Amino acid sequence: MVEAVRSLDDPLSRDRLVHAMTPAGDWLALAARTDKLVAEARRRHDTWPTATCALGRALTGALLLAGLQKGQERVLLELMGNGPLGMVVAEATGTGAVRGYVQQPHVELPRRPDGKIDVGAAVGKGTLWVIKELGLREPYRGAVPLVSGEIAQDLAHYLASSEQRRAAVALGVSLDEEGNVLRAGGLLVEALPGATDASIRAMEARLQAMPTITHQLEEGKKPEELLQSLFADMNLQILSSQPAAFTCSCSRQRLGAGLLSLGEEAIREMIAKDHGAQLVCRFCGRTYEFSEGELRQLLAKLGDAG
Ligand SMILES: [Zn+2]
Repeated sequence: MVEAVRSLDDPLSRDRLVHAMTPAGDWLALAARTDKLVAEARRRHDTWPTATCALGRALTGALLLAGLQKGQERVLLELMGNGPLGMVVAEATGTGAVRGYVQQPHVELPRRPDGKIDVGAAVGKGTLWVIKELGLREPYRGAVPLVSGEIAQDLAHYLASSEQRRAAVALGVSLDEEGNVLRAGGLLVEALPGATDASIRAMEARLQAMPTITHQLEEGKKPEELLQSLFADMNLQILSSQPAAFTCSCSRQRLGAGLLSLGEEAIREMIAKDHGAQLVCRFCGRTYEFSEGELRQLLAKLGDAG
């Protein structure tokens, strides 16, 4: 329990994303620790254990994929499976702002025979969408079939088939008996064009032999330690460590714009029926109240525009 005491205000125990590279530039590695942001997502959305685990993996995966981008771009993952969770959505920016939700938060399935939480069954079969805002007019949209619904494998499959990137992804969330988040994190290892076949085979063997990410997180390993144990003798260089947190970019203005997009008729109906509107941000669960007067102001805006 030394770790628990040390974590009270040790900056290294905060949620963050670490970038690293080998000196030859043939391997890129990212590792994230996301305990607090996954716990925050659970609190906001009241997720049950299987849903917490799926959402936590998706949030961590989105953070890792955002870390592969050069700048501040936003990466959105949508897992559209036919399992009981419905859609799982996670978004992260290059600056470490992470948010997301599951369509059905109250999902708890029996554990798999190996004791692991059955995220694959909860997500089901379907499609993984990856949407990236790259500062262009239209965002990039890529889709691949879900291979397992376990999320890490699905992301690696997406990177291979849509972006021709040879990468391995591992994601883990560990929960206590009550379903509270103990640890969460992940890593992404990519073979860059300079990596030799021998080096790729050696890394595959290391990844095979590696204890599960959840186990390593439970041991209290920090992102740097996750990477160092995998790259043991390869002189991995840590390039940066940036904070990450559950942060939502919603605002009254944005939700108001959303209301406007519903059109005049829908807003008139809200005024007539409810004398106002209550909107909930799906990403963070925050509620925004719009009074009848505010709805009338929106209508006036529509009138101006028309
Ligand atoms: Zn929000």
